[in-house]
Amino acid sequence: MKLISPARAAFLAAIVSFVAAAIFLPARAQETYDVVIANGRVMDPESGLDAVRNVGILAGKIRAISTSPLAAKTTLDATGLVVAPGFIDLHEHGQTAEKYRYEAHDGVTTSLELERGTGDVDSWYAAREGKSLINFGVSVGHIPVRMQVMHDPGTFLPLGDAAHRAASSEELAAITQGIEAGLQRGALAVGMGIAYTPAASRGEILEVFRSAAKYHASVHVHIRYAGLQEPESALAALQEVIADAAVTGAPLHVVHVTSMGLKDTPQLLSMIEAARSRGLDVSTECYPYTASSTALESPIFDPGWQEKLGISYHDLEWSATGERLTPETFAQYRRQGGNVVVFDIPGSAARAAVANPIVMIASDGIWTTGPNIHPRGQGTFSRVLGYYVREQHALDLMTSLRKMTLMPAQRLENRAPAFRDKGRIQIGADADITVFNPATVLDRATYEHPLQYSQGIQFVLVNGTPVLKDGALLDGVFPGRPVRASITQQK
Ligand SMILES: [Zn+2]
Repeated sequence: MKLISPARAAFLAAIVSFVAAAIFLPARAQETYDVVIANGRVMDPESGLDAVRNVGILAGKIRAISTSPLAAKTTLDATGLVVAPGFIDLHEHGQTAEKYRYEAHDGVTTSLELERGTGDVDSWYAAREGKSLINFGVSVGHIPVRMQVMHDPGTFLPLGDAAHRAASSEELAAITQGIEAGLQRGALAVGMGIAYTPAASRGEILEVFRSAAKYHASVHVHIRYAGLQEPESALAALQEVIADAAVTGAPLHVVHVTSMGLKDTPQLLSMIEAARSRGLDVSTECYPYTASSTALESPIFDPGWQEKLGISYHDLEWSATGERLTPETFAQYRRQGGNVVVFDIPGSAARAAVANPIVMIASDGIWTTGPNIHPRGQGTFSRVLGYYVREQHALDLMTSLRKMTLMPAQRLENRAPAFRDKGRIQIGADADITVFNPATVLDRATYEHPLQYSQGIQFVLVNGTPVLKDGALLDGVFPGRPVRASITQQK
């Protein structure tokens, strides 16, 4: 037999041990993630991935999606749970620290006030920066800008001239200038509630769309009329804004389609589908409930509301006490002012919208400490997953997740590229992640007891930081960040 030299033997031994190390050491053993979500059913609506994986998070971003075990400082066991992109709520008025806790329990990682919006984009963001549980963002709103320009005495919604008086040409110029100033300061979109500003002419609304189009901003609009009574029907109101979108090129987003269309919601949805098929950028959203909610003193309840909405006094619930109204209490409380829950949406309309793959899910939540506020702000997302997906089989789980993650992100990502990294479980995406038990997830907020956290949401991470662990909120963490379009005009 032929012997090899000691030097050659040592060289071969070195090669063997190097190859052995390469083969047998775990891949990237030195890589330790901040957080690993282990063994969950990862669902990504964009790629279609639906498989058990380990998700590695480093410095707020998703850095690994792997079938192999990953080493981490913190490992969250997601066995039997769904790992989804964090939910993005396009329509949430309750932008307070207290309200964000309810939203986190409902799986929301980004909460956006895009319908009413704000008249002061800088102050709005500054008030939340560094002290928010979840991500936040806002539109510049036609309502608040009109209120400023017309010196309206209302706070959240207009009560005086901003609701009831046509704008002069000087005022209209000031309104569009205010909208454009907000867009220059990075507002995510333009908000509108035409039903709350009924004296705003069709020409004024068209001008606001024109301003939005200049900045590639979508217009999130509560349309002029609800119900199907002509001539002031939701159909006519939808025609108005579709025409404005077509004329100006501004993307259109119709908010809470069910509370506008009521029993004829499917007719509005087919109009939106047809507009899309003709190439218009039109989208819509709904909340999964059969009641709406608004201010009793608003123009929604101007004379004729019963015929328009197809309801009467006993379909209104005074939020402060939970009582159903009569002609006498209606008059008394309308003078006083306050919130009512309005039982006006047929179950078939709610189901048709929730099940429709083009309709996004958004809560239209609001925050008051009253006992009888609408439950939608606390339970929207868990209600879709638990009631409509699991119990009613109205739609499949991946479609429902797409409607609350990817689609809202895509709605805003042309204007605000930050959304390209949200609404996805993909390498490089922001680690905004909601982990829930598909067998138990459900809303618990009811009309009688609305201030209840949803159940079955196990872990929520915002920019890689857990804010909810084993179904309980963590104290003292504020990983929420502003989500904002680029600022094109310095102050
Ligand atoms: Zn609205």
